[in-house]
Amino acid sequence: MAIRNIVKDGDPILKKKCRPVEKFDKKLADLLDDMAQTMHKANGVGLAAPQVGILRRLAVVDVGEGVIELVNPKIIAYSGEQDGLEGCLSFPGQWGYTRRPEYVKVKAQNRKGEEFTVEGRELLARAFCHELDHLDGIVFKDVADRLLTPQEVEELEKS
Ligand code: ZN
Repeated sequence: MAIRNIVKDGDPILKKKCRPVEKFDKKLADLLDDMAQTMHKANGVGLAAPQVGILRRLAVVDVGEGVIELVNPKIIAYSGEQDGLEGCLSFPGQWGYTRRPEYVKVKAQNRKGEEFTVEGRELLARAFCHELDHLDGIVFKDVADRLLTPQEVEELEKS
């Protein structure tokens, strides 16, 4: 396993659409392992492949209940809404208020190519939406209602 470099704000790769994963091989397993390790090291709750420079449809999420690996994920149901503050490992020091569904159901494949569904509410639902957006070149700043000012960020990061 290895820590990968996280692509930062301004890199055009964050605006690109990812292609589906077609090969469920050791390379994919290694990438998923590396992404989970990279996410944990950076204290993130999710990481999508373009954030480590790879334009393929996969992401990892961990809101404190264990790592969920999502290969070729799709949101197949959602309901409700939640407003909350969102950040991103690719945008250090930037935060914004986004509206997301309160509940989402995701269909994906695991590292072996087997299909499964997973449901999330609150933070997990938010993380699924955020990471899946990355796979279509959409970042939280594109969907935020309002970004925090530098003063607000300072207050937030102090607390
Ligand atoms: Zn992100």
